Order: sequence, then structure tokens, then C-alpha cells
Amino acid sequence: MTSTAPHDTEFDVAVIGGGIVGVSAALRAARTGARTALIDAGFEGKASAAGAGIVSPVGLGGDEASREWSSLVASAISHYGSILELLREAGFPDVGFGRVGELVVATREQDQPRLGELHTRLKHFAQSGIPVGRVELMSARQMQQSWPELREDLDGIFIENIARMDGRRMCAAIGDLAQAKGATFIKGQASVRLEGNTCVFEIDGAPLRARTVIVAAGSWSLPILKTLRVPIEVHPVRGQIVHLALPGIATETRPVVNTFEGHYFLGFPGNRIVTGGTHEPEAEFDSRVTAGGVHSVLGKALRIAPGLAAASLIETRVGLRPRSSDGYPIVGRPRSADNIVIATGLGAWGLTLGPLIGGIAAEQALGLTPSYDSGFLGPDRAPITAAAVLSPNVK
Ligand SMILES: Cc1cc2nc3c(=O)[nH]c(=O)nc-3n(C[C@H](O)[C@H](O)[C@H](O)COP(=O)(O)OP(=O)(O)OC[C@H]3O[C@@H](n4cnc5c(N)ncnc54)[C@H](O)[C@@H]3O)c2cc1C
Repeated sequence: MTSTAPHDTEFDVAVIGGGIVGVSAALRAARTGARTALIDAGFEGKASAAGAGIVSPVGLGGDEASREWSSLVASAISHYGSILELLREAGFPDVGFGRVGELVVATREQDQPRLGELHTRLKHFAQSGIPVGRVELMSARQMQQSWPELREDLDGIFIENIARMDGRRMCAAIGDLAQAKGATFIKGQASVRLEGNTCVFEIDGAPLRARTVIVAAGSWSLPILKTLRVPIEVHPVRGQIVHLALPGIATETRPVVNTFEGHYFLGFPGNRIVTGGTHEPEAEFDSRVTAGGVHSVLGKALRIAPGLAAASLIETRVGLRPRSSDGYPIVGRPRSADNIVIATGLGAWGLTLGPLIGGIAAEQALGLTPSYDSGFLGPDRAPITAAAVLSPNVK
């Protein structure tokens, strides 16, 4: 990230936060020709650099019970198509995105009936236009053709239209494209103060001149939300996720393996397997790799896929999922200020929803017609309490 902005420049849009939401907002704004800045403090625990990367319209916690939620996720997935097209045209042909499908596997006795329920739900999805693609019941033997390391007593369902992506590469590519379109990236910590119904912004104590600021500060958003009197809170949920390698074995075309216990496996280029992750709200902003975290991830991984015991352990990543107090993302202008838009609280769904939500935030900041009606996610909403509240245990 560069630091090239004279602080006396006036920007049309300044984005606080360089995760998937922030870079997507910066790209959307810069593409319109708006003078755009992105400010990132480089905090440890950036979720977009650690996330597993499952891009799926299907929540295994029953999340899609809400029609609005289903339509949001379906729009986010189709939005990826246009982002990938933009990146391809700009010379980023491979950003770690692959439509590899997903195997949902029943790993515990109590999950067997859920597999049947999911199969029925998936048929309803298809009928109501949620793009799940081909759905097929799978035996252990069939699943072992793509994942020979899996246990031999598992049943599963294959869902075709699910992708995996590399959050780090995607974020870097979207950020690079935003800069190529004219956005200025600044390293520093942004702060916000309310004067009447207008926000005043600073970077490391120096004034920042911007017509509108987008708050895409992930898990670090709470002080800004409180300043703006936004009733929904955002808190970090630490996730530790382990990267393994299977030397000499191609892994990049493998379907995602997902389970009802919240554990998953993804295959990436370079013989890489990614498996995780922990859900540790109690860790707050502690972004360390811990012995207990690695033990928990590897314990579950080897119970489900004992054949991975001989894999090399490459690294453990840690990210802080920005989970909102009602489980839904926050996007929109708060009532308290007329020059700010909030885009945060994407929890376990940020790599799926981030490009769409960031784009909507930029459209709102610039007064453009938003490409998706996200009114139900506004910052001054009453907390969403329907049965459709997101399961934090999905990714
Ligand atoms: C282990 C794990 C697995 C996951 N798996 C998936 C998955 O499979 N699929 C999926 O869709 N999602 C997944 N997620 C969730 C997803 O990664 C997050 O929801 C998403 O990355 C959040 O993006 P963000 O831009 O809001 O925040 P972040 O990526 O955390 O970025 C926030 C940025 O803001 C900066 N910042 C904060 N405050 C300030 C400030 N005051 N001034 C300047 N800069 C500031 C920080 O330095 C940081 O870089 C996973 C997350 C984890 C941790």
C-alpha cells in the first residue's frame, strides 16, 4: 500500500479500510472517475487476508430462510462474475477464483437427517431462482475420488455452483485495479468526529478532506459506529485456519468440503489444502496463532480426513471476522451524519458479499442508483431477529 496523498487533496470519496469491502468500494468509486482515497492502518488480523474463501449461496445453518438474505447472497455471487470480468480485462487473468463445487458431508450421527433436509432445501432453492446448479447425493466412495483423504463412512451431497477464492489475491488485485483507475492509497489510521450532523475526518491526526467517507473498517468499526450513534455493534470473532500441502498431488480442482459442524476443506493451486476454522469471539483483538487453535483445527481435520495426517503443515492464518450484533451486514448512511456511509459487519460471509456491499457503499456515497436495494441492512435498522439470523458457524 502506498502513501502518496498530500493531505490537502480533496477527495470525492475516502474509504477507511483496505479489506475486501474497502478495496471493492474504492474500485467502484474510482471507475466513475471520482477522486478516491483508501486509507488502511495495516492492523494485524485483517479478515480478508485469512478467510477460507468459500463463495456460496448456501448456508448450512438455515440462513437462507430469509428471502431478502437469499436474494442478497445470490446477487453477490452474480456480481462476482462482473468483478472477475473487469479483472480479466485489466490483465489479472487468475486471482485464485475457481468454480469447483462443494461436497456437504455429514460427519456426525446427528447430521444425517440434516443432509436429507438440505437436499430438499436445495431443490426449493433451484425452484426459487437461487443458482445452486446441479445437486447430487454422493457416497463415500464417490467423494473419495476427489478427496481420497476423507473417512470411508461419510455420506454427502455435491452442489455444483459453489466457488472458492483466495481472499489475499482477490483483495490485492481489486486494490491494484482501483489504483490503476486513479485511487490513492494512504497508510495510516483514520478517525472520525461528529460536528453537528457532519463528520470530520483525520488520518494520524492530520485532517482528511473528503466529501463522503465510507467506513469499511471490519472488526475495528465499533468506535466509529459509536461516534455515529449507530445502534448495531460490530465485534471481532477470531478465526484460525491451517494451510497444509500434499506434495506432488494436484489439489486446485477439488470441490470444497463443508460440514454441519462448521469445519471445511478447500483445495488451492500449489498442492495446498486450507482447513479450519476456529470461532473465538472471546479472543477479541488478539490475533495470535495459539496452540489450542491449531489443536482444535487439526483435531477436527484429521477426524474427518485422516488421510491428511502426512500432509505438510505450511502456515496458520488468523483473521478477525467482523460480526455485527444481529448477524447481518450494515450498509448505508447513518441518520446522525450526512457525509458518511457504513459498510461493515459481514461476519463469516465477507468474501462472498464484500465486492457487492463495497460497490453499493460507493454508489450510495456518490449518489448513484445502487445496483442492489440494501435498505433492510441500513445502520439505523431495528436489530434483525428473524429465524433467518446468520449462523456464525458457517465459515
Ligand atoms: C478463518 C476465516 C474464514 C473465513 N471464511 C470465509 C469464507 O469461506 N467465505 C466468506 O465469504 N467469508 C469468509 N470469512 C469472512 C471474511 O473473511 C470477512 O467477512 C471479510 O474479509 C471482512 O472484510 P472487511 O473488508 O470488512 O474487513 P477486513 O478484511 O478485516 O479489513 C478491514 C481493514 O480495515 C483496516 N482498518 C480498520 N480500522 C481502520 C482505521 N481506523 N483506519 C485505517 N484502517 C483501518 C484494517 O487495517 C483492515 O485492513 C472468513 C473469515 C475468517 C477469519
